[in-house]
Amino acid sequence: MRLRHKPWAKDKLLNHPELVIQEPEKYKGKWQELFGNSNPIHIEIGTGKGRFINEMAKAHPDINFIGIEAYTSVIVSALDYALESEPTNLKLLNVNAQNLLDYFTEGEVKRIYLNFSDPWPKNRHEKRRLTYKSYLEMYEKILVKGGELHFKTDNQGLFEYSLISFSQYGLKLNFVSLDLHNSDFEGNIMTEYEEKFSKKGNRIYRCEVQFP
Ligand code: SAM
Repeated sequence: MRLRHKPWAKDKLLNHPELVIQEPEKYKGKWQELFGNSNPIHIEIGTGKGRFINEMAKAHPDINFIGIEAYTSVIVSALDYALESEPTNLKLLNVNAQNLLDYFTEGEVKRIYLNFSDPWPKNRHEKRRLTYKSYLEMYEKILVKGGELHFKTDNQGLFEYSLISFSQYGLKLNFVSLDLHNSDFEGNIMTEYEEKFSKKGNRIYRCEVQFP
């Protein structure tokens, strides 16, 4: 992603504590308390400009959504999106998912979404892929028993790598599509990357896997 320098972005995030949670480690184990209900928590890692998480929050008011994005200059667009409808079931975290265990306690999350994650194609960068086994270990810790990971990408190499990584980890494959936009899957919410790359003619891959 081309990053634009936005010196004002940090202040904008700070000005919206109702949506962008500062010091998220303080809410470890207390996210439902913060949302003020006992609805399940779904998180998206690498939320980008936020269309997916915002539209999911609108479509599923009985789920609490948390979007995680490392870059301030990117998540500020997700905040702008949220300010249009001010959802009460959405929070945004401007943090790196490497530190996921600082923010969520065991079994606190029901589902994780990964959409168009950076592919890191070089072998020496394998550990940075969000479907690498050390990430799966973290996901397993924060997910409820039987929790799910839903993954979409246009990158065939990353998709194949991830299916192998999921299988080696012992995850159950509940759904797979090798061409999502020409399948009978209903309720797809397009991400910004998905729109861009599908317009270029790229196929979209999607799978759902389940932890034990
Ligand atoms: N999901 C969006 C979409 O489909 O339009 C954005 C896709 S973009 C290729 C990947 C995003 O993930 C980038 O905004 C990047 O900053 C973010 N990201 C990558 N690794 C991350 C990490 N470890 N923690 C938080 N965000 C991360």
